Amino acid sequence: MTEYFDALANGFLGTVRWTWKSILFEVPWYSNYFWGLIIISLIVWGLEILFPWRKEQSIFRKDFWLDAFYMFFNFFIFAIVISGVYKLLGVLFKDLGITATTLTIMDIAHWPQWVQLLVFFVVLDFVQWFTHVLLHKYPVLWQFHKVHHSVKEMGFAAHLRFHWMENILYKPLKTIGVMVLGGFEPEQAYIVHFAAIAIGHFNHSNIKLTYGPLKYILNNPVMHLYHHAYTIPEDSYGVNFGISLSIWDYIFKTNYIPESGGKIKLGFPGDEKLPKGFWGQLVYGFKRPKK
Ligand SMILES: [Zn+2]
Ligand SMILES: [Zn+2]
Repeated sequence: MTEYFDALANGFLGTVRWTWKSILFEVPWYSNYFWGLIIISLIVWGLEILFPWRKEQSIFRKDFWLDAFYMFFNFFIFAIVISGVYKLLGVLFKDLGITATTLTIMDIAHWPQWVQLLVFFVVLDFVQWFTHVLLHKYPVLWQFHKVHHSVKEMGFAAHLRFHWMENILYKPLKTIGVMVLGGFEPEQAYIVHFAAIAIGHFNHSNIKLTYGPLKYILNNPVMHLYHHAYTIPEDSYGVNFGISLSIWDYIFKTNYIPESGGKIKLGFPGDEKLPKGFWGQLVYGFKRPKK
């Protein structure tokens, strides 16, 4: 029992310490997610100001500060709160005989570094794409995902406006994805995480970017804007589910970009009923969805 309690406490305190050290620049610069997130945000925001797609959209768009707060909440505050629980679960699974290598089908540890990173990125992105589809498909999950879809004006910070339950809902498949790869995060996984943050910021930004022919591989602001469209094609529960990569949507035929003017209405039918502020949204989603 004490073992579990120790895991809970150590996980929590370890993350508090790491976050604090990051703020004080006491961790290696390449693993500093605190300042990394701020720098990526300032760069994408700067580009939005210089090259706006919807020119009439204000620099401090609707809900700018709400989303700015969400960035820090989901990335750091929630991470601190949950870290002890994850550590505890790790110990519990180990006691049950389930370890990181239980599901291994590919041992990528001996592959060249860049191949490891690429495989890690692609596998993690695919399981997130799949989780995202489930969030749209099942009403119980959609209740939580509505918070992300309550964005009415798109800008980089909308990327991290999501209900804290999403952190938890994405976790199982992400963990399984890592286990399939031998339970191992490449040494330089931070490159993958920073790339994912930057791509996600761009996907939500007010910049018209499609990356030319790479649009069939990389998710982009035009494609993701349609993911947030108020009106979606009939008989579908959503389109363009891609996180960093768009290729899954092209493979599974969930891609949909009818035009690229950038001025469509965003949200979802009934979004006026969603609480407007952070605290209301924090507890939203636990009641049974009304038909
Ligand atoms: Zn979605
Ligand atoms: Zn989005």
